[in-house]
Amino acid sequence: MGHLRFDVVQGAFKKKAIAVETPDGKPSDFFGSLVFGRANSKKYLDSQTYARLVHCVDDGVPLDAATADKVAEGMKVWALEHGATHVTHWFQPLTEGTAEKHDAFLTPDGTGCVIEQFDGKSLVQQEPDASSFPNGGIRATFEARGYTAWDPTSPVFIQDDTLCIPSVFISYTGEALDYKTPFKKALKALNDAAVPLCRLFDPKVQRVYSYLGWEQEYFLVDEDLFAARPDLMLTGRTLMGHSSSKNQQLSDHYFGAIPSRVAAFMKDVETAGYKLGIPLKTRHNEVAPNQFEMAPVYEEANLANDHNQMIMNVMTRIARKHGFVVLFHEKPFEGINGSGKHNNWSMGTDTGVQLLAPGKDARGNLQFVTFFVNVLAAVQRHNGLLKASVASASNAHRLGAHEAPPAIVSAFLGQTMTSVLRKLLEVPSDTPITISGKKGRGIGLVEIPEIFVDNTDRNRTSPFAFTGNRFEFRAVGSSANCAGALTVLSAAVAQQLKAFKAQVDQAISKGSSLETAVMDCLKPLIASVLDTISFDGNGYSEEWKALAARRGLDTETSVPKMFCQFTTPETEDLFTQTGIYNLKELEARNEVKWETYSTKVLIEARMAARMALNHILPAGVEYQKRLLQDVDLLRQNFPNTWQGLSDTQITLIRESSALIAEIKGRADALNAARESAEALDDACQKALAAEKAAGDLRLLRESIDKLEELTDNDLWPLPKYRELLFIN
Ligand code: ADP
Ligand code: MG
Repeated sequence: MGHLRFDVVQGAFKKKAIAVETPDGKPSDFFGSLVFGRANSKKYLDSQTYARLVHCVDDGVPLDAATADKVAEGMKVWALEHGATHVTHWFQPLTEGTAEKHDAFLTPDGTGCVIEQFDGKSLVQQEPDASSFPNGGIRATFEARGYTAWDPTSPVFIQDDTLCIPSVFISYTGEALDYKTPFKKALKALNDAAVPLCRLFDPKVQRVYSYLGWEQEYFLVDEDLFAARPDLMLTGRTLMGHSSSKNQQLSDHYFGAIPSRVAAFMKDVETAGYKLGIPLKTRHNEVAPNQFEMAPVYEEANLANDHNQMIMNVMTRIARKHGFVVLFHEKPFEGINGSGKHNNWSMGTDTGVQLLAPGKDARGNLQFVTFFVNVLAAVQRHNGLLKASVASASNAHRLGAHEAPPAIVSAFLGQTMTSVLRKLLEVPSDTPITISGKKGRGIGLVEIPEIFVDNTDRNRTSPFAFTGNRFEFRAVGSSANCAGALTVLSAAVAQQLKAFKAQVDQAISKGSSLETAVMDCLKPLIASVLDTISFDGNGYSEEWKALAARRGLDTETSVPKMFCQFTTPETEDLFTQTGIYNLKELEARNEVKWETYSTKVLIEARMAARMALNHILPAGVEYQKRLLQDVDLLRQNFPNTWQGLSDTQITLIRESSALIAEIKGRADALNAARESAEALDDACQKALAAEKAAGDLRLLRESIDKLEELTDNDLWPLPKYRELLFIN
């Protein structure tokens, strides 16, 4: 016993970086080579087909069957040239991650030979047998089948030997079964609400785009060590493990030199990402040991989210090539930082104006302040729902822990914007918002810097922070599909903008100038935002919790209870008014959320109790046996003095005995809690019971971690934190 562990650890330690794939040329030469984007479409389609496809992508005009056939033919030729043999609709069901079902191009031609075939119908729609995806009872009750439909706004790409077609996933009765469908609807709702408001400032505006720049955090662990940790394998996190003597106290990992094995992995991921048209920009070590981050340049939000899902797949596969396993779990290790996925989010017009950045003149600034304040008002109104949108069994370990984000959604405005808003409340409504320094210092009553020089807010405790030209929603978990959070945010902002525009219209119809009307309508929002959602202080402090509750912000810390936000009358209004979900979909999705939560937590409960009995107790007993043998030997060899000589051993035996008994008792309690949760039918009640079991799991873990500290290193059957975290 025990040596298996040392073999594993030594094997992992001895690994060297493997050579990276070196493609021909520089990244700009092969960027997008595996994507059927505009460049490839133009090359492989005749000009009329190309024009129709572009019209479909840009203006949402449906493709007729004949054109779809021609597009499919062009795609097929291109795909075959790149070695593809299969095609799949690639979609994002309500499990985290993506789904695909590959069909070969190969088709018998009826004469005993085969040909490669792909037509418009298979491009546009497929019917995966999808009854096993989570659906909250929609299909069980209403319709057994679902279908996937091509989303032409996200380009088709090749992964390995397969042509992947980004798609939405919908039941036959029309309910969304995925993340993409509601997200696209929410982006459209936001566009529809924002365009009329923008036109007050510039009648030329036709479209408002949403932008997303995600920052993906992740851990890497050596695959040999991973394989020796059944908890990591089955649940994505360590359910036990005493903290390492050194972890992140010295902050020596953050932005440090990237270890060579990891650098090789990153390089390969970037090459693969560039070929897929993903503009990866930054890579660095994160705060915790073996934690890293990757971020691209921001893109249109739907595309950016697809790219995030794609790169997570790529990372998972390439990690194995380098002898790593990538962990996207929000909290794989207790006691050190977890992983998030900051969503940098903004809006911009087709005329090139960033709506969350200061404008070029007073009017542009007024437009900026309008969007800025309305976003905050939307976040304020739906703060509880926004929190629910990022809540999950795994993100629960970050929310509410002493780590960004706290379990209260507030917004960081920064000093500049806070004082601009305060000033605006004091001055007459038609006061122009000038740009500071433009016409000499201090000329206007209200001034905004043209660019925020130090816009990088380092108040990492704020879940929703303004960073100069965008908001950074930091509460999103590293394993999440960004669409979950951004659907809610976009819907909330769309609702708010629409209501605001109606108010402004009314004021204008009563004779106000645009400037006065806008500012008159903004002032009550500004006052409310400053008093409620705006908070620049320490989000981890106890005072903030109390203050937030007094301000009426949602302070719920129980994840299953947070999910109740999805079916409040406020939320139902939000989603039905914006046309994103109907009531049936909302209810079904909430079932899925509760079910997923319970399932994950109860798997952890089962796993931890089994490991306690099968791995931990035997190690404790073995150690006890060694100690007892030693006491026995002392007694035989020193018949007169053995009692004094064996004091320490006997103390150790007593301590480990007590822990062994405690572990057994706590494992039994955990099993009982799990079983009583499993016996419940109601999804919400079950999730609440599962949450209780999670509490029992924490207790069990405490005892196990104490035993680990006490027990002979040689006998411990699992790789320890210091090994998991410091070998790379
Ligand atoms: P930091 O770690 O300081 O937050 P990073 O460089 O890691 O910054 O990531 C910032 C992300 O924000 C990048 O993806 C970047 O492209 C994106 N971003 C920058 N400006 C905008 C914007 N206007 N809208 C959306 N995302 C943006
Ligand atoms: Mg960052």
